[in-house]
Amino acid sequence: MLEIIPLILGPVSTNCYLIADSDSGEAAVIDPAWDGQVILAEAIKRGWKIGQLWYTHAHFDHFGGAAEIASTLNASADPAHRMALSTNSLPVVALHPLDHPLWQNQGGAPLFGMHIELGPEPTVALAHGQILHLGNIEFEVRHTPGHTPGHVVFYCAKEAVLFSGDLIFQGGVGRSDLPGGNWEALERSIREQVYTLPDETRLLSGHGGKSTVGEEKHANPFVRA
Ligand SMILES: [Zn+2]
Ligand SMILES: [Zn+2]
Repeated sequence: MLEIIPLILGPVSTNCYLIADSDSGEAAVIDPAWDGQVILAEAIKRGWKIGQLWYTHAHFDHFGGAAEIASTLNASADPAHRMALSTNSLPVVALHPLDHPLWQNQGGAPLFGMHIELGPEPTVALAHGQILHLGNIEFEVRHTPGHTPGHVVFYCAKEAVLFSGDLIFQGGVGRSDLPGGNWEALERSIREQVYTLPDETRLLSGHGGKSTVGEEKHANPFVRA
């Protein structure tokens, strides 16, 4: 069964989702936003092993905790920390290649006068239609440019949940005025990749509260169905 632990972290209150297949204890972090230790502690407390970090996009507030997670898991002599990782290697990082330049540029952190550690190099190049596995649970990758060129969302049909990053929020949509943003692409991504999903699909986004596809189709003031 899919378990989802939402955490609100970092300077711009980013939603980070620690997710796990509770049968196998395999865990992943969707957008390890900030405070790697906080995320790790939640996994350790449940006996979960974090093997993968999945990025919806490469803005700094969505992966600022990655370096701390990786270095703690790899350097810690504490067996409890080691247990939180499935192997003795770095967690695997998945990112769409079109956001790799943004990642290399610290996710735009310097624009805001900040510096962040990059953490492990992304080695899984996400592509539209790709299936990601977490234990026995499958997630479909949907490429949704507009907020950034390489933005993706993660859809689990079986659990009726969409992790929508900064594409669409409860009553809002992602900014398209940052470098690499594009309003027409954002609108098209929402219409074609989100509004086509069943109405009851839960929407867990990168900022703000929970919603559903149906609620946003009817009430989102920016993109009407
Ligand atoms: Zn963003
Ligand atoms: Zn964000």
